[in-house]
Amino acid sequence: MVEWSHRAVDKELVEATREVCKDFSLDYWRECDQNSRYPEEFFRAAGEAGWLGALLPTKYGGTELGLPRMVDVLETITRSGAGMTGGITVNQALFPIQPLLRFGTEAQREKYLPLVATGDLHVAFAVTEPDAGIDTSRITTRAVLTGERYTVNGQKVYISKAQRADRIVLLTRTMAREAVSKPTDGMTLLFAENNRSAISIHPMDKLGTGAIDTNTMFIDGLEVDASDRIGDESDGFTALTAGLNAERIVLSAEALGTGMAAIDAAVKYAGERVVFGRPIGQNQGIQFPLAEAYGAIEAARGLTREAAEAYEAGAPNTAVTANLALLTAARAAFQACDSALQVHGGAGYMKDFHIERLWREVRLVQLAPVSQEMIKNFLAQRVLGLPRAY
Ligand SMILES: Cc1cc2nc3c(=O)[nH]c(=O)nc-3n(C[C@H](O)[C@H](O)[C@H](O)COP(=O)(O)OP(=O)(O)OC[C@H]3O[C@@H](n4cnc5c(N)ncnc54)[C@H](O)[C@@H]3O)c2cc1C
Repeated sequence: MVEWSHRAVDKELVEATREVCKDFSLDYWRECDQNSRYPEEFFRAAGEAGWLGALLPTKYGGTELGLPRMVDVLETITRSGAGMTGGITVNQALFPIQPLLRFGTEAQREKYLPLVATGDLHVAFAVTEPDAGIDTSRITTRAVLTGERYTVNGQKVYISKAQRADRIVLLTRTMAREAVSKPTDGMTLLFAENNRSAISIHPMDKLGTGAIDTNTMFIDGLEVDASDRIGDESDGFTALTAGLNAERIVLSAEALGTGMAAIDAAVKYAGERVVFGRPIGQNQGIQFPLAEAYGAIEAARGLTREAAEAYEAGAPNTAVTANLALLTAARAAFQACDSALQVHGGAGYMKDFHIERLWREVRLVQLAPVSQEMIKNFLAQRVLGLPRAY
């Protein structure tokens, strides 16, 4: 295995993570992907290892590992060959509940967070809508409060894990966009029960991460108790943004681990595959793209670690470093997977070698949870001082 140049924060934790991942082979992940089967066994193992509660305080059943250590863990999981599917399986427990942790009531925290930490409560995050896209302020899913209950109607798209979620962190509008002075005002966040008699959920066919369902959701007369609101009415956007920086940092780590898994495989293959009477790895045409990809991964890895430390310390520049980490990591990781696929020749295109899966999976990080364009918009405005483009 190729050595990392930047050190792990917690080497023992990395070793312990490797031990857990040994039980989940490349064939396991391929089978989950091909059959659109949720990696239930791995999810259970993640709960037992304490990863699902990594960002939760111990009083809510969490392990308080913190972000720098979770970067180590997720890098190791994804590099084991689990790829983005393994990473996302874990981070879906970490992030949807951040608004509840930061803005929920004590009663909500005590009731739900321990169940998330053990893996007994699955949560989905429903923000995106077909006619709003990345401009969240234009969502139209409407929640109307009558007495102590909201009635919700609307539509969501690309919602991951909605098929198995028990609860949905659901972004709604309680006031029309035209009726508020700031476009992001007037939105309310609900911790809604996934009541299938009022929500119809349809899986979408997609390029990668086939093991984790992504869906369209039609919401028709869903009743949500007012006690399941997260934060203040009409201030849902503030609650929603809790944890966004942490999510970017973690996604960077997952992409980099996936990219390194591809490089590991390519280096091995380049040493073994003989063409023209010598190992292909003897050719600079094979060596250079891999060395370049490794360099780009290490550079992004340095930024990712810096961002994780900044987040942990509550540093004011965290948003900038987190965005820089994801910008560079998403590209470096895709380049690594693409070069690794090329090194494998025709074999790279075959499912038996697992590279094509990593390549498909890692492409996602350039689109979601935030697109490369929106990261550049942010950096151009906030760091370079150029006019806002969104
Ligand atoms: C596999 C997958 C899982 C997902 N899971 C979830 C989930 O669980 N919950 C959830 O709420 N959402 C989820 N999403 C949605 C994801 O966050 C959105 O895809 C994302 O917010 C972008 O919205 P959009 O796809 O409609 O793109 P659009 O808003 O239609 O944008 C299209 C393109 O135009 C670019 N663009 C738009 N405006 C500008 C501008 N001003 N300047 C430059 N470029 C611009 C965008 O960057 C993008 O490349 C998921 C998406 C995928 C693919």
